[in-house]
Amino acid sequence: MKKSILSFLFVVLITGILPAQHSDLSKKYGDQITPSELKDYLSIIASDSMEGRKTGTHGQKMAATFIEEHFREAGLKAPVNNTYRQPVELYSTKVDEVYLRIGTERFDNFGEIVYIGTGDSGGEVPADFIFIGRGTEDDLKQVDIKNRVVVALTSGGPMSSTRALTTSLREKGAKVVVLAPESTPDEFMALVDRMKGFVGGGELSLKKPDGSGRSTFMISKKVAEKLFSVSYDALKAAADNPNKEEIKKIKPGKGIYKVSVKATPVETENILGFLEGTTKKDEVIIIGAHYDHIGMTGTGEDRINNGADDDGSGTVSVLAIAKAFAKAKKDGVGPGRSILFLSVVGEEQGLLGSQHYVEHPLYPLANTVVDLNMDMIGRTDAAHKDNSNYVYVIGSNRLSAELHKLNEDVNAAHNKLAFDYTYNDENHPTNLYKRSDHWNFAKNGIPIIFYFDGIHEDYHRPSDEVSKIDFDLLAKRAQCVFYVAWEIANRDKRIVADPK
Ligand SMILES: [Zn+2]
Repeated sequence: MKKSILSFLFVVLITGILPAQHSDLSKKYGDQITPSELKDYLSIIASDSMEGRKTGTHGQKMAATFIEEHFREAGLKAPVNNTYRQPVELYSTKVDEVYLRIGTERFDNFGEIVYIGTGDSGGEVPADFIFIGRGTEDDLKQVDIKNRVVVALTSGGPMSSTRALTTSLREKGAKVVVLAPESTPDEFMALVDRMKGFVGGGELSLKKPDGSGRSTFMISKKVAEKLFSVSYDALKAAADNPNKEEIKKIKPGKGIYKVSVKATPVETENILGFLEGTTKKDEVIIIGAHYDHIGMTGTGEDRINNGADDDGSGTVSVLAIAKAFAKAKKDGVGPGRSILFLSVVGEEQGLLGSQHYVEHPLYPLANTVVDLNMDMIGRTDAAHKDNSNYVYVIGSNRLSAELHKLNEDVNAAHNKLAFDYTYNDENHPTNLYKRSDHWNFAKNGIPIIFYFDGIHEDYHRPSDEVSKIDFDLLAKRAQCVFYVAWEIANRDKRIVADPK
């Protein structure tokens, strides 16, 4: 008995990896996902005429129409009352009036202060501004922040680096978070300009805001000094002193803030195409990407954030994969399980389109086998500049050991990309596992894989353009997802979810 198992294993080892059996048939269709096809699509999706595809804008609607036409042409079923559009009702909350008063001086929004958030203060609010150093765990042992207005010093890096801090302060009960970056007046003005582009157009939410939304201010050094009546250097010295008690010695600043916001409804839509399975049609595989981006920002010559990589690359991959599967079905070798191609909106504003989908699923979540999410898969990051044959894989092992192994085996049999699991580390500070649309599925216990190319210098900038996409690499990654979906769709048994 023992011996025969060993010899069986030996045969498996020398003859290669099992999924090779499926590869011949799938390869015919995987090969139809080509660099030139992806380039054709992306040249439209990420063109200047799409104006950066910001949710609720004309550009986003044009992109929606393009995707819809593609699904129709490929012969996919229109699953939402015979249309491809799932309406998503959002609210745009625009900041109306914001200021901060300290003594007799008033500081207005986009001057010495920037407001980020949707919380209406309901008139002027006098408050004690509590100094919390840099807001580290140790710093917070010195002060009670529950329901308080708290002020933390930051290094003045990109906004993304402060997101984790503001989130954690809010989770710990802070009512309003004030960040005082260490930046020169010029640097602060540059930051104001960038923030104007991001928040100036309003924030989107799924629910009508009730005024209790999050509130974050950024203030210049000058305002911080005025508030606490000490120099910024003195604040720094207190924050960075190993003796944490120094933080308490900075007396709370007295100030008055006011935020008023206006909410207006925004009609937008997810775009969905459905390919019915041949043998297990009730079980659904989702292949998705977000097609929205951040629109136009800044005041420079090129203001259009084309979002070629983010997430034009994922969007066009969905289109190409859909077409390849649809062709296979026409040829009589369609997937056993059904596939829902899901182009979601509102990702950049907080994964809103995917949240709406899981709250209003077209097919029961209990029958949803997996979500394969592509968000930025067309470029190479600095860490891989010498070997671009890679993709970051995030989340594959979190909810299904079987899915994780399947992904690796299929890749070994086909595209042989190097899978980089750096961002899958549960303690990785970027927390990417929760930062794209797959997270809304993972939250519901549905196994997911998030494919990603890394952070690059053009992230969320007008320079994220088509000319910077590596289409050969994009095609390989899209094919990888295609083969993984093919295997999940055609396996006898549904993959098992077994959360770690
Ligand atoms: Zn994205």
